[in-house]
Amino acid sequence: MRILITGAAGFLGSHLCDKLLLDGHEVIGLDNFITGSRENIAHLMGNERFVFYKHDVSNYIYVRGRVDAVLHFASPASPNPKSPSGYFNLPIQTMKAGALGTHNSLGVAKVNKARFLLASTSEIYGDPLVHPQTEDYAGNVDPVGPRAVYDEAKRFAESLTMAYHRQHGVNTRIVRIFNTYGPRMDLEDGRALPNFLKQALLGQPLTIYGDGQQTRSFCYVDDLVDGIVRLLYSDEHMPVNIGNPVEMSVLQFAEAINRLTGNKAGVTFLAKERSERDPQRRQPDITRARTILGWEPKVSLEDGLRQTIPYFQKKLGLA
Ligand code: NAD
Ligand code: UDP
Repeated sequence: MRILITGAAGFLGSHLCDKLLLDGHEVIGLDNFITGSRENIAHLMGNERFVFYKHDVSNYIYVRGRVDAVLHFASPASPNPKSPSGYFNLPIQTMKAGALGTHNSLGVAKVNKARFLLASTSEIYGDPLVHPQTEDYAGNVDPVGPRAVYDEAKRFAESLTMAYHRQHGVNTRIVRIFNTYGPRMDLEDGRALPNFLKQALLGQPLTIYGDGQQTRSFCYVDDLVDGIVRLLYSDEHMPVNIGNPVEMSVLQFAEAINRLTGNKAGVTFLAKERSERDPQRRQPDITRARTILGWEPKVSLEDGLRQTIPYFQKKLGLA
């Protein structure tokens, strides 16, 4: 296939480029570098099956030649209010990437009769009242809350995707991605894993927002990419959760990182840093992914962290 990936220079987008090139496809990468980096795709420059365009997906997308699949991943993704690349500080760009960017990406798929895959998120469940989260749970999101620029943009993106499927017959898919980590995460984007791993490798206490009893379920990037590619190759049109169902508290997560890195500085509790409407519990129910895609994650937290640490050491100048 000839595959367009928006957000190709980001953490997940760049890993998807690698995997789809490995599978023998041609990849057209598109990104405006608002939160991604050239470094993430530098190794692909010169690959004759890869082309790259610097472009903002909120503007009309023109692709020369045929397109067989469109994967729409372009969007700021970090919820940390202090991070310049977080969506709190890019509210309008985030809403435009989710709304106009999805519209433009769907347009490319429609005109090319291509398959389409939307990167949605566990955030569409908001602070969930159903646990673990199944795809039929409609969510608990405040449309004017601080996280709404991201959550509602993704919810709109899902609705628009289904509208193109139902009205125009576009061959769409929706993946709801739960917290994922791995090499090429932006060390400065303020998410839990980059903050914790950076702090641990520098021998600093890990900054726990609130009491650390809120939970998350962390998936290693290779597992996630495997699930997404299976969904792309499938004919499933309804949303599918992809994430690791092993739930743990943020404090347990921090302690695991300290243990693995040998960091003796412990943790520090920053009660006021916890953002408003930070979800209290999050865990994917992956029954649909198991049944429809025959997918489940294989990489343990320990193995995933071991594979991520060298990237962070290199970026921090420690290796
Ligand atoms: P990222 O910030 O590393 O990647 C996003 C990429 O999109 C960046 O390269 C950025 O420059 C690009 N981008 C943003 N707005 C753009 C625009 N208007 N035009 C062109 N490019 C634009 O984040 P990520 O973690 O790789 O997330 C990728 C996608 O996956 C996002 O849509 C995000 O919502 C979704 N997602 C990620 C996670 C996760 O745990 N990493 C969880 C749920 C959903
Ligand atoms: N968090 C934390 N310390 C940090 C960064 C994040 O305790 O330095 C918490 C955050 O409040 C949230 C969880 O870790 O409860 C996961 O945050 P992340 O930013 O990774 O993404 P989210 O799951 O909220 O989308």
